[in-house]
Amino acid sequence: MTALGEERLGETGTELLGRAVSGERLNAAEIEALYHLPLPEVAAAAHALRLARRDPDVVSFLIDRNINYTNICNVGCNFCAFYRTRRQADSYTHDYATISAKITELEAAGGTRILMQGGVNPELGLAYYTGLLRHIKAHHPSIRIDAFSPEEVLFMEKNFGLSLDALLDTLIEAGLDGLPGAGGEILEDDVRKKAAPARIRSADWFRILDAAQRKGLYTISTMVIGFGETYAQRTRHLLQIRDQQDRANALYGGNGFSGFAMWTLQTEHTRLHGKAPGATAHEYLQQLAIARIALDNVPNIQASWPGQGFKVAQASLYYGANDLGSTMMEENVVSAAGGHGRHQATVRELIRVAVDAGFTPAIRNSRFEIIAWPDVEAALGRAATNPEAERAVGAPS
Ligand code: SF4
Repeated sequence: MTALGEERLGETGTELLGRAVSGERLNAAEIEALYHLPLPEVAAAAHALRLARRDPDVVSFLIDRNINYTNICNVGCNFCAFYRTRRQADSYTHDYATISAKITELEAAGGTRILMQGGVNPELGLAYYTGLLRHIKAHHPSIRIDAFSPEEVLFMEKNFGLSLDALLDTLIEAGLDGLPGAGGEILEDDVRKKAAPARIRSADWFRILDAAQRKGLYTISTMVIGFGETYAQRTRHLLQIRDQQDRANALYGGNGFSGFAMWTLQTEHTRLHGKAPGATAHEYLQQLAIARIALDNVPNIQASWPGQGFKVAQASLYYGANDLGSTMMEENVVSAAGGHGRHQATVRELIRVAVDAGFTPAIRNSRFEIIAWPDVEAALGRAATNPEAERAVGAPS
């Protein structure tokens, strides 16, 4: 196995990975060193940690729907192909009835939550947001509402004359269940300023997520690679998430990030096209495996089928991921900038991805609690075909 070099760490890659697998927490220099080790060896360590930290047989996913209530946005990120100005012909802001109809479709599909986010639309007042949450809770009481990125919350905080605490209390009172940690990208302001000069800064992203965690809201952490960021910047991104998770575990009764989701930058139809390097499948898998090793306090690592396609997402189940994200029903943001052009995954597709990789598929809620075991034979029209999956299909139902 690779020697890291005496001048670097004074130990071999084998020793470093061995310490990680034994549960030792790695520091910044050690995490950065992982980028220089052969990927199969980093992957093996990440997979061993995944098997130890989560049920080794199970790969979970969520039946949900993405709803983008408006595509009007005044932030204008250079990497975004989703947003429109209000004068563009295809700009929109959904009324409550349109959103309700989408949720009715989700309920018919057995879904349990919506992930509802939008652009930063300066024409919307607080009443639109609170009215929307109340409308959804009144008409769809069993649906969890995970909504609004830190960017949208920052807009509300600046424009509605409320402190962050008062704003979150108002949204929670109206029906908000969770505040997804979208917009993490790389939480280093040097990278953020180049990719999107008006984008929410790292300190505000953490300040808003910290308040959400303090108030008991669901949150996840996110990362996007491919802006041209350095390994040191990626490492600091992970360490900031790990620090926040330590803080939430110590102060907020463990209500930290439920999971970590990452994908690669997509730049089609954006101003960054041809200007940012993006990231290959190898880099994605490497970053995912390093995240699993570095984030020793974040239990769930998601594979990203919208960004990477089903095949790489399936491979990532051996690079540290234990979860396939969700069905989404309509993914509009990553797919607008390329990705694999997929707006949704069917339950059957996610079952097949999990089973053919040798795992038992499980349907979860947004807090990663398992709520159902799908019938694999009914879904696929066949029993699982590989020996690992034969074992998996016999899991409790
Ligand atoms: S990424 Fe979000 S904040 Fe940035 S332009 Fe797109 S919709 Fe607006």
